[in-house]
Amino acid sequence: MIEISQVDLREEETALVLEVLRSGRLAQGPMVERFEEVFAVVAGTEFAVAVSSGTTALVAALQALEVRAGEEVITSPFTFAATLNAILETGATARLVDITDDFTISPAAVKAAINDRTVAIMPVHLYGLPADMAAIASLAGETGLAVVEDAAQAHGATVDGRPAGSFGVGCFSFYATKNITTGEGGVITTDDAAVADRLRLLRSQGMRERYQYEIPGHNYRMTELQAAIGIPQVGRLEQLNAQRRRNAAMLDERLAGVEAVRTPTVPAGRVHVYHQYTVELAEGLDRDAVVDSMAEAGVRAGVYYPRLAHDHACYDLPSVVADDLDRARSAARSVLSLPVHPGLGEQEIDAVASSLVAVVDR
Ligand SMILES: *Cc1c(COP(=O)(O)O)cnc(C)c1O
Repeated sequence: MIEISQVDLREEETALVLEVLRSGRLAQGPMVERFEEVFAVVAGTEFAVAVSSGTTALVAALQALEVRAGEEVITSPFTFAATLNAILETGATARLVDITDDFTISPAAVKAAINDRTVAIMPVHLYGLPADMAAIASLAGETGLAVVEDAAQAHGATVDGRPAGSFGVGCFSFYATKNITTGEGGVITTDDAAVADRLRLLRSQGMRERYQYEIPGHNYRMTELQAAIGIPQVGRLEQLNAQRRRNAAMLDERLAGVEAVRTPTVPAGRVHVYHQYTVELAEGLDRDAVVDSMAEAGVRAGVYYPRLAHDHACYDLPSVVADDLDRARSAARSVLSLPVHPGLGEQEIDAVASSLVAVVDR
């Protein structure tokens, strides 16, 4: 079976994890600090603050910016639940606006949604493609809004040469299926020393000196074991992303001209790191049947995401406000993600493409 994701763990990870175990220090310490140093280089930011997950990264980022109840954060509805949950956890209102054909938030829709309660814009770099950060950053600059990037799927992606996570406060995840992993884990990137300082306080109960509390905080800490897995992963990120991009280019080529399949859009200036390689199927195709036939051919395709984030009864709340979401709704109906991970070579990519073509092109 060709799976949709595969963890890449090597001897270096084993050696560093053993080093931690033998040191006897398991809770946040020097390994986490090393992890932060190497990750700050990836994001091109001055600071990186490691936390326990991508979700806690998003929550802590919003808290560090002092986003609170009654204020609004504009984000995409076409994302994983964590993006929405993080906003709701702060007590703020999530205002969901539409996406464009590249599956990221529409700057025009963001602009139209800004009102006097808006405090932040939270673009999601979905599938590894950065959102239109040039437009979003200039909009934020004009309006004085904060930018929190949900870069959970976009380690190493760039816009006009600038890394995802360096445009505002960047939030990354190291969950097992992401481009690089620590099992569970997250990091927040920023150039703002005051934000970094607040993040470090929030991460550890709001405590600066031992039992001296400055703000009510939480326990968002990463362990030394997670950091030990992550350091070699960060070292291999460029190489892993390069293989994803080669695999994506092969899929583009194999699927070019297949009428029932729209391959990913990559706008000029943006470097996609293909956390997922996501196509759109033509209207009228039965997506579940496509997934089933591909599975019979030994290929696991995935649907990320079959519904919009708030399209569940539990989000029927006054703090969830949806604008016109036509494009996002059509994406949720038609997207299909194909295996693209760096463990796959040309032969497997051929099998992926032909298993799709065999069902849609007849
Ligand atoms: C994975 C993911 C998160 C959450 O990260 P966790 O580490 O699983 O908490 C948030 N947003 C997006 C878009 C993600 O893909």
